[in-house]
Amino acid sequence: MSRDQLHSHARGLGMASERSRRRLVERLRQKGVADERVLEAMERVQRHRFVDEAMASRAYDDTALPIGHSQTISQPYVVAHMTHLLLGQSVPERVLEVGTGSGYQAAVLAELVPLVYSVERIPALYDRARRRLQELGYRNVRLRQSDGSIGLPEYGPFDGILVTAGGEEIPRPLIDQLADGGRLVAPVGPRHAQHIFRITRRGASLDWQKLDAVTFVPLIVGEQ
Ligand code: SAH
Repeated sequence: MSRDQLHSHARGLGMASERSRRRLVERLRQKGVADERVLEAMERVQRHRFVDEAMASRAYDDTALPIGHSQTISQPYVVAHMTHLLLGQSVPERVLEVGTGSGYQAAVLAELVPLVYSVERIPALYDRARRRLQELGYRNVRLRQSDGSIGLPEYGPFDGILVTAGGEEIPRPLIDQLADGGRLVAPVGPRHAQHIFRITRRGASLDWQKLDAVTFVPLIVGEQ
């Protein structure tokens, strides 16, 4: 291919992925996602850049996909829904994500909130996500490779905390790092009977809501 042909080929792929993203957003709307802020953000984030090339053709299907190390990039519908639950009416300023994985959810958050911290325990996933987010120009995401179940006490409290791995319970340090008025959204329960919970802090009291049934990869607490 000549240089010009190569460029028009790349442009063609870019347009094809834009069309695919628009179709995905339409599908999310049909499935009941009504938060325009979230839909716009998801129309902007190039999900195909967060999966292996071999998987790129499926990047705009509404399914979870493997990202190696027995982990997955979450289903777009679940990303949209959890992001909506986290945002509420007033957009949070500082958000912590536990479970960076591919970095896709962090990118969606970065389109919506001023500052995103995200923690991943698997070094290879952390490295890959960091490289991708850098390449894509996300400057408001701070990644850390560590056990996210203890949160990031030195950077808290957070107005929003989003956990993208499922545990039997929500680690106490995360609840402690929630700012007043802040919301924490997390899948909780045994592997095949998890539900999304949303906790809202109001001063010293916590308001718990049990929401949709979901299935997430496990939240690993401590060294393993
Ligand atoms: N949000 C991700 C998908 C998350 S999959 C995305 O958009 O692609 C869940 C991730 O949580 C996995 O990468 C897993 O390694 C990570 N994880 C599990 N337990 C963790 C812990 N205690 N601290 C940090 N990350 C954890």
